[in-house]
Amino acid sequence: MNNVFMNTYHRLPVTFVKGEGSWLFDIDGKKYLDFGSGIAVNILGHNYPPLVKAACEQAAKYFHLSNYFLSDTVSLYAQKLVQACTMKKVFLCNSGAEANEGACKIARKYSLLKYGQGRHTIVTLKGSFHGRTITTLSATGQEKFHKDFGPFTDGFIHIKGGDIDALDKALDGKKVAGLLIEAVQGESGIVPQSEEFIAAAAEFCKERDILLMFDEIQCGLGRTGTFLALEQYKDAKGNPLKADIVTLAKGIAAGIPAGAVLAGEKTCDVFTVGDHGSTFGANPIAAACGLVVLETVNTPSFLAEIKRKGGKITSVLKNHPKVKEVRSKGLMIGFDIEGDAWAVLEKAIARADKESFGLLMLTAGANTLRLLPPYILTDSEIDQGMAVILELLAEKN
Ligand SMILES: *Cc1c(COP(=O)(O)O)cnc(C)c1O
Repeated sequence: MNNVFMNTYHRLPVTFVKGEGSWLFDIDGKKYLDFGSGIAVNILGHNYPPLVKAACEQAAKYFHLSNYFLSDTVSLYAQKLVQACTMKKVFLCNSGAEANEGACKIARKYSLLKYGQGRHTIVTLKGSFHGRTITTLSATGQEKFHKDFGPFTDGFIHIKGGDIDALDKALDGKKVAGLLIEAVQGESGIVPQSEEFIAAAAEFCKERDILLMFDEIQCGLGRTGTFLALEQYKDAKGNPLKADIVTLAKGIAAGIPAGAVLAGEKTCDVFTVGDHGSTFGANPIAAACGLVVLETVNTPSFLAEIKRKGGKITSVLKNHPKVKEVRSKGLMIGFDIEGDAWAVLEKAIARADKESFGLLMLTAGANTLRLLPPYILTDSEIDQGMAVILELLAEKN
């Protein structure tokens, strides 16, 4: 039945028919605890009543307008999103790759207008993931995604995260338009950048007028316990970081495809009429859901709960003899094991039967399991999920 799909995904043998909170139910009525949230997308779990209500109410008004017109819902949302990120303006789009494409276009035009031709390089980090289009693949600092698809968009270089000397050298003020980084790398196994590295990046970018751009597609939107992960970092003087560009997607509308490019003071007026666009960008149903995300997630108490729940999960993994390393911020958790992470992921699913539930996890590389549970996860669900992980770690893998 599934051979009509192009063979791009390593699919698992489960077909889901419904979801409820942190749980998914398959075609045979088996139950699964969702510690992956559709890769950090279903941040409020499944069938979250305020989200369903918002989506249905908007769907009953209109699904879509062209960007020749304003939507009351989208305008309200854009205003609140810009505020939540302490940025100036936003461009709404449909995915992470599209958001990063927009960010790169802004960086190049900003630099071209101010400094002329030739200062168009964008520096990113090794191990980064910025998307699957030809340009965002160029930005992605992982060779394994590159083979077979060249030639790529010119003008991207990748340096090692944490290497301040390399950063200093790479950020050549005559050649470089922007630095694009994930404060916490997701796809490569949950790798938070150090405070020193980010402070140095902020300093170099500021003194050389290179745009400081954060890809918060996976680590943003409350995932790490602050609305944006960059809020947990400071500049070299100890002041809050000021990003020139922030990109969001994944959990931004809690399950409806959407993305955003947010621009600060320097960059908010770089695009002018005709420079950029997207037919489906600024979808009203996505905006209605995005409003629920902002109202629900962006409160001090809700964000504190994300941190607490993350701490509860990592406390089980830390010092476990079968866990080599745990890296985490909030509900963004990676842990390395001796054996094959994919095999553990498969076993966690296969344990679902009439009596027991399955557990949905993600991997990030051969030996790393990645947990990105929905924020609405309860303490009891954490206990149940972690009991399964302990059971699997106890087995010989
Ligand atoms: C998932 C992801 C992207 C790409 O998002 P898509 O919506 O799949 O295009 C970009 N950057 C980061 C950090 C991501 O996690």
